[in-house]
Amino acid sequence: MELLDKLNLKHVINASGKMTAIGVSTASPTVAEAVKDGTQNFVEIEQMINAVSRVIAEETGAEDGCPTCSASAGIAIAVAAIITEGKLPLIERIPNTEGLKNEIIIQKGHVINYGGSEVQMIRLGGGKVIEVGASNVVAYEHIEEAINERTAALMFVKSHHVLQEQGQSLETMVALAHKHCLPLIMDAAAEEDLRKYIALGVDIVLYSGGKAIEGPTSGFMAGKSQYMIAAREQYKGIGRAMKIGKENLAGLAIALREYRNKNHHVKEQIASMTYLCNVLDRIDGLSCTVTKDDAGREIYRAQIKVHSKVTKITAKQINKRLIEHNPAIYVRHHFIDQGILSIDPRTLKNGQEETIMSTIKSIIQGASKHD
Ligand SMILES: *Cc1c(COP(=O)(O)O)cnc(C)c1O
Repeated sequence: MELLDKLNLKHVINASGKMTAIGVSTASPTVAEAVKDGTQNFVEIEQMINAVSRVIAEETGAEDGCPTCSASAGIAIAVAAIITEGKLPLIERIPNTEGLKNEIIIQKGHVINYGGSEVQMIRLGGGKVIEVGASNVVAYEHIEEAINERTAALMFVKSHHVLQEQGQSLETMVALAHKHCLPLIMDAAAEEDLRKYIALGVDIVLYSGGKAIEGPTSGFMAGKSQYMIAAREQYKGIGRAMKIGKENLAGLAIALREYRNKNHHVKEQIASMTYLCNVLDRIDGLSCTVTKDDAGREIYRAQIKVHSKVTKITAKQINKRLIEHNPAIYVRHHFIDQGILSIDPRTLKNGQEETIMSTIKSIIQGASKHD
């Protein structure tokens, strides 16, 4: 890409999936065209925000929506929307919420850092974070006991960073919130299902626009109309410091429209990862298998087990060399402690399998030479 050379940036091969640190996702040609269109035209921004909100509502099944510049901004804006109820004098006071109902209750295990801090985003929106339970145990009573007249909302985070089975479930949190006439906010930033959580009755669901949906850098929320109206009003307050531009509004709308008919290219994924595995399997000390995503999504990755006694180099060391390589190669390293590296085919461009295979091969050959 010409731009990378103009700025003298390292080329990157992404075999890791949707990672923010290396640019999350790439947009389809039609989404890229929409972004370009957006940059080159004037629009009435309020009308455009309302139109994109309707697209969000249609694609999620929610009453209404609100576009944001990221899921992180969505957390802050959602909290501010609930606390201010969309009243301008209060909007202008955020993040100062003294004397207002401002407590946001969250299970301790959901207090994660996804690259940014969940609790900081809540505070940015004027929320006072009330953590309940312990990181590995949260009882129903812990949450119910924390609810009082200053409680503004309950918060739930869905992420691979959260040990989801150790706390109270989403269904329980929805029921508990509604029993006390409180809204439930859900951070579903990286989730793929746009309808499930709304259908379960969650009041505000937050998504990232650049992850599963493969839009430009953006985010959005879907939910009950009173909260979505109040959320859009925040663009007169803290939302201004986190505004989404017209080009990203345009790209987000098109990405959302395309998402329901998205082709996962399962056959191509399996063919390319099988080819890669067949080659890597022949290297002494590596065994490679094609495996479906643990969460059941339509992703077929090559899982490479490194037997370091034979290769004379550990999976961790191979990973480090791959990142230092030019072009830099980023693979998935979730199970690196077990000696496993995985290749995610979704983000690979034509022919990059070859570079990955030959680089791994030469790293291992180099290691055995030094033995
Ligand atoms: C990625 C992520 C975010 C942040 O999303 P951005 O759109 O990058 O701000 C928030 N929460 C979770 C669980 C995430 O995975």
